This record gives sequence, C-alpha cells and structure tokens, in this order.
Amino acid sequence: MVHGSATSDSNTLPTVLILGLGDTGVLTAGHLSRHCRVIGVTTKAMMISGQELGLRLTKPAEWRRNYLIPLDYYQRLKKVEIIHGKAIGVDPIARTAALELASGESRRVHWDYLVIASGVSNGFWRDDRLDTRRVTESRLASQHAAVTAARSIAVVGGGPSGISSAFNLKRVYPSKAVTLFFPGQQLLPGYPDSTRRYHRELLAKEGVTLKAGHRAVLGDDLTTSDWTHGCLEFEGDHPNYRADLIIWAAGRLKPHTDFLPKDMLDAAGFVRTDTCLNVEGYVRIFAIGDVAATDPLRCSARNWAYKVLCRNLLARINQRPLPARFRPPAYRWGSILGPQTEGLRLHSPSGKSRVLPRWFVRWLLYPLVVRRFIYGGLSAKGAGAFAKETVSSDN
Ligand SMILES: Cc1cc2nc3c(=O)[nH]c(=O)nc-3n(C[C@H](O)[C@H](O)[C@H](O)COP(=O)(O)OP(=O)(O)OC[C@H]3O[C@@H](n4cnc5c(N)ncnc54)[C@H](O)[C@@H]3O)c2cc1C
Repeated sequence: MVHGSATSDSNTLPTVLILGLGDTGVLTAGHLSRHCRVIGVTTKAMMISGQELGLRLTKPAEWRRNYLIPLDYYQRLKKVEIIHGKAIGVDPIARTAALELASGESRRVHWDYLVIASGVSNGFWRDDRLDTRRVTESRLASQHAAVTAARSIAVVGGGPSGISSAFNLKRVYPSKAVTLFFPGQQLLPGYPDSTRRYHRELLAKEGVTLKAGHRAVLGDDLTTSDWTHGCLEFEGDHPNYRADLIIWAAGRLKPHTDFLPKDMLDAAGFVRTDTCLNVEGYVRIFAIGDVAATDPLRCSARNWAYKVLCRNLLARINQRPLPARFRPPAYRWGSILGPQTEGLRLHSPSGKSRVLPRWFVRWLLYPLVVRRFIYGGLSAKGAGAFAKETVSSDN
C-alpha cells in the first residue's frame, strides 16, 4: 500500500520521514504535513492503538471504533505519503532509511529530518510484524474466540494492561474464573498510592482472584508475546496454576530499535532523547512515544509531546533555537479500565480521579475531542464507514 500524494509544492519542502504510524506517528505526521513533505512508514495497514487491552479482548466492536482505524480515513494524513513497510536500517550520514516493503520488494528513502516513532513490543497485542489488514483482522477475531471459549483465565502482570484485562474479563464474563498474578505486594507500579489502592479493592469486589507475590517463570522458549494455555509455574514455593487461557501482560517491553545505529540507544535499547525530543547527538533526528527514553516512565506518547516535537522540528528546519520542552509528570495518569457503564474514570498524576459520564465519552470525548480535535477528523468515507459499523455493532 502506498497512498497520499506529493504535490508539486512538496518537492521544494524538506522531507520528514516518520518511522512507525501508531498513536504518536499518526499525530506527528498529521501536524507536520501542513509544513513539510511527510512520508510515513507503517508495519500495519491500519492504525492499531496499544490502548485499552481489556476492552479489545471483551468488546472488540466497541474497541475498534476508536482504536483500529484505516490510515486513509484520517483527514490530516491526506497529504502524507504512506508506505506499508518496515524500516530495516537507518544511515544518518547519507540521510537514508532502508525499507522492507509489504510487497516483498525493498526501497531506500531519502530524508532531511527523521522521526522515530516505532514503539515497543508489549505482549501479544503490540509488535513490529509487517501485517496486512486481513491478518490483523483474523488475529483479533481469533483472540476474541479464545477468550469466549476459555472457562478459566490467568492474567500475568500487575500493570495497567493486566489490570484492564482482568477487570474487563470478569465484568463481561462473570462466570469465568479470572486470576491475576503479580510479583510484588502492590499493583500498578508508577501510579500514585491512592490509584493503586483503588484498583486493588475494585478488582477484589468484581470477583477477580488476586495472587500477590507470584512471579511467573518464563521458560527460555516462551516469550511474553505468546497467547497460551496450560500450566503456570512460579518462583518460590507457590503451587502451579492451570488455566484455559494465559494472558501475558508481564511488562517485558522490547523497543523496536534493531534497525538503528547502536550509539542512538541506551543500555535497554531505547532511543536516547532529550527534553526537546531530539535524539542526543543527531540534530536532524527526533524520537517520540514508547520507544523514546525521555524520562523514567517514557510517557511521551501522552502529555502533548507531539506538539513539542513538531514545534522543535519546524524550528530546526528554520534554523531557530528549539522553543519547546517536554515536561513529563512524575506519576502515570489516565484511564486504566477504559469506558464502563458507569462512565470513564480518569486518574490524575496526583492520585485524584473523576468519572466522565458515558454519554459524554460516547458522543463528545471520542468523536469530538479525540477524533476531531486531537487527530484532526476523519474523511467523509471514514466517517460513513464508522456510522455503519457503529449501527451494526450496536444492534
Ligand atoms: C491520545 C492518547 C491518549 C492516551 N491515553 C492513554 C491512557 O489513558 N492510559 C495509558 O496508559 N496510555 C495512554 N496513551 C498511551 C498509549 O497507551 C501508548 O503509550 C501509545 O500507544 C504508544 O504509542 P507509540 O506511537 O509510541 O507506539 P505504537 O502505537 O505501538 O506505534 C508504533 C508503530 O510502529 C511500528 N513499527 C515498529 N517497528 C517499525 C519499523 N522498523 N518500521 C516501521 N514501523 C515500525 C509498530 O508496529 C507500530 O505500529 C495514550 C496515547 C494517546 C496518543
């Protein structure tokens, strides 16, 4: 797939190449395309968000409305040349990137400025495979079928994805046995204490069995991106646990950076990025999102960091000092369980929370604030397809 058009103007504009069109790549591409010639490289034929795993597993039709969107639906990407492929090398001196295309061919693209937004692998729901739309759809369908068929489900990991999965599974399927295993005594590392306490009580109230102090053993041949069934073993003398379905949300992130020069990376393989979102030592290269080592929580996928990146990159093009700094909060924040019948609970970095009513989330937050205001709206074709999908998924 290659779509989008380079106008005659765009031949005189600097070329910005964006590697990865997930949550942050799409936002950055959309904002820069008014000022530059933008080329985006994407492993997926659609925007597949890493958000709201629990909703994705339990209510796929509702999840896809906001989190699985064909790239050609986005208005702001109309002028962006989108290449369905994967970066396999970057040469900062020649200013080129080598790509493996979905068609099986290869291509070398020249850039003036580069944005790395290639994210991380994080369990079975986020990866760097080169997939067609059909493969994505069939994988989602088979995951949902596995959830429906399982009578007992073990979720491994006490972070937001594990908690969101365990809670939503138990809520939507109260007759299934859902057990959450996590290594320490506390859930949600990186969140304020009150947010951690709140979720622990809520999970217990919902009927999720909580197993604190259980560190699951990962065999050498097992990666956390597997979607398995069978027997869980633990460090220490805890008994084994057998489940029809094991969801690994153990937080073993793998940054998608194999294709980058090693001196761009920190010891864990993330991209060394300063507060301007500039890659350290490379004036023409910027990084954003889960791949960028901006702060201990690596939270530049949120907190309006794409605006910081775009302002600084445009200033760099115009040879001005970089005007914006990314100031991450000390604690994680946001929604953990996703939209529920009671509404959407948002947790602030200070540990307070507030509930947005369901009607507001459904009719204002997602369509107006997120899709139109943050992402710049969908084309008539996209909006039409959405209306149809919404009606059929609601029936
Ligand atoms: C509006 C918004 C709201 C959010 N709200 C919350 C919230 O409430 N709670 C919360 O916890 N988080 C929230 N997040 C953050 C979110 O959960 C993740 O942090 C975010 O999905 C990470 O985005 P990313 O672009 O870094 O990575 P991804 O979305 O994973 O995108 C990376 C893409 O790059 C591709 N890629 C990988 N390697 C290559 C390669 N070699 N070449 C080309 N492409 C490649 C990947 O396959 C993938 O498609 C929010 C994010 C946004 C934008």
